[in-house]
Amino acid sequence: MSEPNQTAPTTAQTAAPSVAFITMGCAKNEVDSADMSAKLVDAGYRIEDDPEQADVVIVNTCSFIQAATEESIDAVLEASSYGNVASGKAKLVVAGCMPARYGADLESELAEASSFVPCSKEDDIVEVIDRMLAVSRDSFVEDSAASHRMAAPASAYVKISDGCDRFCAYCSIPYIRGRYHSFTADQIEADVADLVARGTREIVLIAQDTGRWGQDFDDPLTLAWLIDHLAKKFPATWFRVMYIQPTGVTDELIDAVAANDNVCDYFDVPFQHSNPTILAAMNRTGSAEEHLALIHRIRERIPNATIRTTLIAGFPGETDDQFEDLCSFVGECELDYIGVFAYSREEGTRAYRYDDQVDDDEKLERAQRLRDLADDVCTPRIAQRIGATMDVLVLGTEEDGQLYGRAQCQAPDVDGVTYVDAGTPGEFTTVRIDDTLMYEMEGSEVQ
Ligand code: SF4
Repeated sequence: MSEPNQTAPTTAQTAAPSVAFITMGCAKNEVDSADMSAKLVDAGYRIEDDPEQADVVIVNTCSFIQAATEESIDAVLEASSYGNVASGKAKLVVAGCMPARYGADLESELAEASSFVPCSKEDDIVEVIDRMLAVSRDSFVEDSAASHRMAAPASAYVKISDGCDRFCAYCSIPYIRGRYHSFTADQIEADVADLVARGTREIVLIAQDTGRWGQDFDDPLTLAWLIDHLAKKFPATWFRVMYIQPTGVTDELIDAVAANDNVCDYFDVPFQHSNPTILAAMNRTGSAEEHLALIHRIRERIPNATIRTTLIAGFPGETDDQFEDLCSFVGECELDYIGVFAYSREEGTRAYRYDDQVDDDEKLERAQRLRDLADDVCTPRIAQRIGATMDVLVLGTEEDGQLYGRAQCQAPDVDGVTYVDAGTPGEFTTVRIDDTLMYEMEGSEVQ
């Protein structure tokens, strides 16, 4: 019997393994999945839409609150039951916030997974997959479809920083995502240029704390500078900024939004509460008066600005009177969109240890009352848009063929859509708003 030829080149070519993503949680996770996906495609792997057909299934988890952790665990367990994974033909990877938050504990709990990739290791996803599959990428047959980057969606998120230094008492993000670090302007511009070249018409800039962007550089820059720079560089693209903490809404930022038609007149400013004692217990600042002054400052410069906030009901120690303060604030605030959450008690956060927790039923009741109040305040404001003419980015069609898109006053995933009677997905159209239904709008094309 002859010895195997140790030096013969391994010329056998194999189809590149395919990787599917299941993404849980917020837009920031969608960006992380898209980044991992791009790295894998660049390394020769194929991206498969159907996880049951893939060689590797990556569940990019969310663990921001307990409910999100439970949903992510369910998603991992469901993925582990897919025929390809259950038979051992495909590998299961758990990525993102859950491994970042629970570390080794998770590894012993979820034996179904072959690998765990916390947020901080997602840049190494190619090496992780190479190692796990024990493959040589040199042997992959080049797939012409895979070698071209996928078309990008009409509207896409771009992350401008990661981590957070604010340590709000209820929030686990600083423990999961680490300290605040801005991505460089060059890196952000390259991400935007890549998306625009692949067909994206709206860029939504996100981070845990967008208003702080650039402050951690040796030569500090500002968010105002960044959006002005991007808006001028890509004049045919809409830009929208989400998650601007109240202290980040500077006059310079408002001026930069006002000065650029392609920057949406849209401010997403999480207030979380309006009572100063509760805000202080949250390790945040402000008061109803300060929030109202901020809203006034924006509208003084941009009268038609759309302003969104999020509020938390039932934070530990919230008395009936303090909750009534919050309700009064909602009644006065003239905000366009208000997201309401019942406080979620998260292990490892400072507020977890507060001993004056509000009863669960009471928290849910307060949150519902606040939501109803928010609907009473916001939906008449949406209805005031009837008769207005506005540009809409057409995004696609519903199952029944109805075209829909979003105007500058509607952020993705949270504010509803505009149904339109004409237009091409991926293109802008100008419509007159004919009707509204709660948060949705309906418009007909203006010739
Ligand atoms: S600003 Fe507060 S709520 Fe937002 S990510 Fe940072 S710590 Fe969490």
